[in-house]
Amino acid sequence: MSQSVPSVKLLIGGEFVESRTTEWRDIVNPATQEVLARVPLATADEVNAAVAAAKEAFKTWKKTPIGARARVFLKYQQLIREHMKELAAILTAEQGKTLADAEGDIFRGLEVVEHAANIGTLQMGEYAENVAGGVDTYSVLQPLGVCAGITPFNFPAMIPLWMFPMAIATGNTFVLKPSEQDPMVTMRLAELALEAGIPKGVLNVVHGAASVVDAICDHPDIKAVSFVGSTKVGTHVYQRATLSGKRAQCMMGAKNHAIVLPDANKEQALNQLVGAAFGAAGQRCMALTVAVLVGEAQSWIPELAAKARGLKVGAGKDNLDLGPLISRAARDRVEGLIAKGVEQGAKLELDGRGVQVAGFERGNFVGPTIFSGVKPGMAIYDQEVFGPVLCLAAADTLDEAIAIINANPNGNGTAIFTQSGAAARKFQEDIDVGQVGINVPIPVPVPLFSFTGSRASKLGDLGPYGKQVVAFYTQTKTVTSRWFDDEASMGKVHTTISL
Ligand code: NAD
Repeated sequence: MSQSVPSVKLLIGGEFVESRTTEWRDIVNPATQEVLARVPLATADEVNAAVAAAKEAFKTWKKTPIGARARVFLKYQQLIREHMKELAAILTAEQGKTLADAEGDIFRGLEVVEHAANIGTLQMGEYAENVAGGVDTYSVLQPLGVCAGITPFNFPAMIPLWMFPMAIATGNTFVLKPSEQDPMVTMRLAELALEAGIPKGVLNVVHGAASVVDAICDHPDIKAVSFVGSTKVGTHVYQRATLSGKRAQCMMGAKNHAIVLPDANKEQALNQLVGAAFGAAGQRCMALTVAVLVGEAQSWIPELAAKARGLKVGAGKDNLDLGPLISRAARDRVEGLIAKGVEQGAKLELDGRGVQVAGFERGNFVGPTIFSGVKPGMAIYDQEVFGPVLCLAAADTLDEAIAIINANPNGNGTAIFTQSGAAARKFQEDIDVGQVGINVPIPVPVPLFSFTGSRASKLGDLGPYGKQVVAFYTQTKTVTSRWFDDEASMGKVHTTISL
């Protein structure tokens, strides 16, 4: 752990403060191993102080007019656009992805900020007149109070922006716990949020790992927890947060399959598959990591491998095709899984281990890797590899391919490549996966919709952003009212008030 590098601050009550903790972690550039900064594992008192600041700020923020809340996000989206290059450079340095991917990461979050600026039309209740004679019922969507977010390392801009803008736009206050592996771009986004006009205490940021997450799950003043990360941690967060009476939404791990039918446009399908399997070094929750080749499409493996072999691996700042994995530990784990794949009998069509990048000899690089003949029971199939490893499986029919996908525990994303409308329609109807792409490899919905997930990929009913998150971050209150039309108030008798 390095003392001589800058420390990442906590954001509590509108002030960026140095943690008093004795526990710190290094933030390491994955292409070079340079230590960029150190991040604190916040103390219990610091978590409590952040929640207390958010609780205090809620008293006034919840009454702030909806137009004023919306205008903060109008300003915020402008600031993010103006700082796009600077944000992308920070993100690439600490996370490793290419600059183009980093801008994509920020842009997908920016879209949620733009949506938050429309909160006036999103947070509206309903009204029914004369539910009984002279009785009306209406509903209002009120903010919950202090909400919290826990985010993963792989999208350090987009995923925090999935959470706090919509929570705050709906009138809540927020405590964010970014990934301890790459919190620097998140902190720059927090600075810009304050510059955009988010008042003191409305957005707070604490850093840390398991104990800080547990403190958030247990804290009696936090009303709702949003989590994005692995299935193991998300399941723990869901159970712990709901046990203490909180709302929870947990978006978790994946093993996303594509089906390639022999009638697909070969060139487009293979290009899209390669981009979706190996882009961001496979560290996307929506990466396509298994392709089920149906019938004649099984003969396309050499062309697929040739395209993958042509991808350029290098430092993200040089903006090639794929950058390094987030850490040495991640690289060792992925290389270990590749070795296990060979040992368990899968055919290694392309081996990305040991790739050397001139000038970046210490980077955590793994090149594109392809296995064919992959089956359930092999570690490379059963685990989420979270690296640039594509598994190929074979099926004779579309029905067989759909059955393979539905038998996998995960249900985050999937895609089909075909020119048959009937096949695509059958796939869309029968597949049990949250995000479905038809000739679209990474079908992440725009914020007019909500992100979702099936089975082991999601816990909680309501997804991040879009309409569902407005429901998640608000309490519906219904009011049933009756006004007696007595003669005095209807102006039928003389009163002392004259207009
Ligand atoms: P992770 O689960 O290790 O970490 C996520 C968060 O949980 C981090 O903030 C981390 O500090 C915290 N955490 C880690 N260990 C913990 C523990 N034992 N107890 C409590 N908290 C703990 O995930 P990651 O490695 O940062 O991210 C990759 C994972 O996230 C992959 O599984 C990926 O599929 C998933 N992911 C899912 C989505 C989605 O929308 N479904 C999106 C992005 C990433």
